[in-house]
Amino acid sequence: MSHFKPIQDLNEINLSAVWTDATKFDSYDRKVDEKGKEISVNHQGRYYRLMAKKERDYSPWERLVRGLLGIIAGMIAAGSLGYLLSFKTVTKLFTQQKEHIRFGLLIDPALPQKEAPEEAPGEKASLTQQIAQAKEVDQVAPTNGWKQGLGRNETEQTLEAFKANEHTQRNSSLRFLKIVILGDLSPQEMKIIHIVSDYLQAVHGLNTSVAPKPLSLYNTCIRHNPHPQYAIENNLLKILHETAPEESFYLGFTNQDLYPYLEGDTVNFVFGVGNPNTACGLFSTYRLKTDNFEQTLKRLMKLATHEFAHMRGVAHCTEHKCNMQGTNSVQESDQVPLTFCAEDMAKICHLNQWNLKKGYERQLYFFENFFQRYQQQVDFSQEIAHLKKKISKLS
Ligand SMILES: [Zn+2]
Ligand SMILES: [Zn+2]
Repeated sequence: MSHFKPIQDLNEINLSAVWTDATKFDSYDRKVDEKGKEISVNHQGRYYRLMAKKERDYSPWERLVRGLLGIIAGMIAAGSLGYLLSFKTVTKLFTQQKEHIRFGLLIDPALPQKEAPEEAPGEKASLTQQIAQAKEVDQVAPTNGWKQGLGRNETEQTLEAFKANEHTQRNSSLRFLKIVILGDLSPQEMKIIHIVSDYLQAVHGLNTSVAPKPLSLYNTCIRHNPHPQYAIENNLLKILHETAPEESFYLGFTNQDLYPYLEGDTVNFVFGVGNPNTACGLFSTYRLKTDNFEQTLKRLMKLATHEFAHMRGVAHCTEHKCNMQGTNSVQESDQVPLTFCAEDMAKICHLNQWNLKKGYERQLYFFENFFQRYQQQVDFSQEIAHLKKKISKLS
């Protein structure tokens, strides 16, 4: 039986690098009590949703100590209670290879489950004032291929227009973001997806996790171009929609190339698609990955936060250097920052009932603690400097 640790936020899972995601996690998403035991349908009060299971190898020395302590405990119990530890139990203590911890996220019925329908008095003026303060640091975006082409008719979406957007309103009650893998990913790719998952939670504020079981990629049309490409429709998006958990956005990631079946041969490939109507999205790392871990990671972090913001109702940013800029190519995407302009960050803050400073501070915290958390060197110095400037305007 593995240990159980209740948590209130997925960021509390802060283990050293020797801990990895467990290879077997059949109890994912199970509702349990404070001891990690599955609850019945009649359960009253708070409960936990199993969201992560981590494991590490015991050293031979630890196994020996565990076994000996088990024998001593058994002998003491035998002396006082006539109880004897079974041979099987003692053997297990000596031979068990791994230690496991399961993490359960608190679901407290006493806490509000949804965003308050009415905004707090003064909040409107206050977020608008905060935008004006932080806007001083925003830089004008140079014209790119997107602005000259497909995005030429786009106009800036204000905070007010965002609030009135149908997708904003439709999806604002969703509280979870689940990520599922389609097909097989390498351990390195899985590491990136887990970091992207954590990053989405830092930026967007929803409880975010990666489903332990991948979905098959083969339930869809395949064409050869000349490498295999998988159709996003017929039936991948439909399967995602049908398997999407309740109260949750659902994002699929694959390392295979995707194409839009409905557009026929006119479109060569797509990076992915987010459907705000079903709250489901599907993304490919195929065109973004390079041999450089940092570059691949940053590209995926940008793609994920940008596309997910679309699914929450945020439109393209037409004025500023901002994660929400529209782009026409990977080269253009590389010019787009990870950070958001004041107006777009305020939209995410509005959904989470944060002030603007908190939105930027969460992102800053993620970058500043990156190495400590993932034991991986990635240069976020530009982002950190920019966020600090923004936060100083809001202090
Ligand atoms: Zn976009
Ligand atoms: Zn923007």
